[in-house]
Amino acid sequence: MFFPLWRKNTLLNFIHMSKRIALFPGSFDPITLGHLDIIERALPLFDEIQIAVGKNSEKKYLFTLEQRVDWIEKTFSHQPKVTVITYEGLTVDFAQKQGVNFLLRGLRNPADFEFEKAIAQANREMVPQLETVFLLTSARYAYISSSIVRDVYIHGGDFKSFVPESVQP
Ligand code: ADP
Repeated sequence: MFFPLWRKNTLLNFIHMSKRIALFPGSFDPITLGHLDIIERALPLFDEIQIAVGKNSEKKYLFTLEQRVDWIEKTFSHQPKVTVITYEGLTVDFAQKQGVNFLLRGLRNPADFEFEKAIAQANREMVPQLETVFLLTSARYAYISSSIVRDVYIHGGDFKSFVPESVQP
């Protein structure tokens, strides 16, 4: 069908604006089955999910940024709706730069809730149009955290049942 150029651009802008894009920020040091569960369950809710791996000079990571990114890319290599990017600085600034309209976070327990609530409310104060969406973790993954995985790994234990298959340090 023939469309004048200006109409085509308006149409494209409209399609882009109405896309639901979520940013899932985190350390992913390393990615766990808990993260995977949140992302897989969020896929039907969004057109696109950008997994944003943080590099914060104040934080001590066990695995390098390249390694953390590589494991996530391998985990989602079959999923065209998922992209993996790195970022530093304020999450809301990065979200605006990326043009996303949602932040995605997972909740495991009341401690997560209290922590995430404060961050989401502060983010909302700074960028009101950026909505944070929380998904409750599936009960069977609620006990898993990257810090437990790191601890088991450091002490030579078997961590395979906590992480996606692609995580092979
Ligand atoms: P951060 O350093 O930002 O806390 P994490 O990688 O630890 O980064 O967590 C990123 C997000 O994933 C957070 O919203 C966290 O609550 C969520 N998350 C972490 N582990 C799990 C899990 N087992 N189940 C569900 N969500 C989780």
